[in-house]
Amino acid sequence: MKKWRSVFSWLVLCAMLLPVGPVQAANLLKTPALVQIGVIDALLAGGYDGSVPVRELPRLGDIGLGTFDALDGEMVILDGVVYQVPASGLVRRADLRVTTPFAQVAWFKPGPALALPENLGLKDLEAWMDKALGDTSLFGAVRVEGVFTALKARSVPRQSKPYRPLAVVAKEQSVFEFSQARGTLVGLRGPDYVRGLGVPGWHWHFLTQDRTRGGHVLELTLGAGTVRLASLRRLELLLPKGGLGGLDLSQDRSHELKAVESAR
Ligand SMILES: [Zn+2]
Repeated sequence: MKKWRSVFSWLVLCAMLLPVGPVQAANLLKTPALVQIGVIDALLAGGYDGSVPVRELPRLGDIGLGTFDALDGEMVILDGVVYQVPASGLVRRADLRVTTPFAQVAWFKPGPALALPENLGLKDLEAWMDKALGDTSLFGAVRVEGVFTALKARSVPRQSKPYRPLAVVAKEQSVFEFSQARGTLVGLRGPDYVRGLGVPGWHWHFLTQDRTRGGHVLELTLGAGTVRLASLRRLELLLPKGGLGGLDLSQDRSHELKAVESAR
C-alpha cells in the first residue's frame, strides 16, 4: 500500500513538471483582456494624433472608453457601438474612419445584474464597486443602468496643432448637467500600478438612455440602478506605428491626470 502511495505521488509530481505546451500558452492568451490603444501620459502630454481607426474598436471588444483624433470629444463604446460626445454634448455615432490616440476596450462578459443601494454619490459608488469586484489589483469593467438624480459630465473641444497639454485644454471643457436622467454608465478600473500607462482607479463615461447626450463623468448621484461587473487579468497594449517620440514622457503626470479627470 505504501509503495502504491509513493508511485502515485511520483505520477502527480511528474504531471506537475510537464512543460507548458503551446496549447496551454494559446489558451492563456485567450484570457479576456483589456485592450488599450496608446498611453495616458502621451495623451496628457498633448499626443492627440490618432493611430487606430475607430472601425477596428468593435473588433476588439464591445465596451470601452476613450477619445478621438485631435481630442475631438469623449468616446463611449456600448454594445459594440462607438459613440462620440463632442464638445457640443450632442452624441453621435462616431465616423468609423476617424482614428483614436487613446482607447480602452474589452469583451464584456459580466456576472449577473446586481441591485445598487439607493442615492449613491460617486465616491460611494466607487467604493461599492471595489468591494463587489473584490480584487483591485485586477482591471475592472462595469456597466451601470439607472436613474441619476444628478449627474455632471463634460467633453473637450477638438484641438488644432500645436497641441497643448490636456491639463490646459481641460480648462476649456464643456460641462453638461443632468437631473433625473435615465441612462448607462461605462466604468473601467485600472490598478494603482498602471500609473503613467493607463488610468488608476475608476474612469466613468455616461450616455443617456436615448443615446443623445453624455460625457466623461465629473459628479453624480445615482437614485437607483443595477450593475454588471467583470474582472480582467490581461492587458494588451498597442502603440502607434511611429511610437510616441517627440512627447515628454519623463514626467510624473499623476497630478495632471487627477486634475483632468475630475476638473469641475
Ligand atoms: Zn474620460
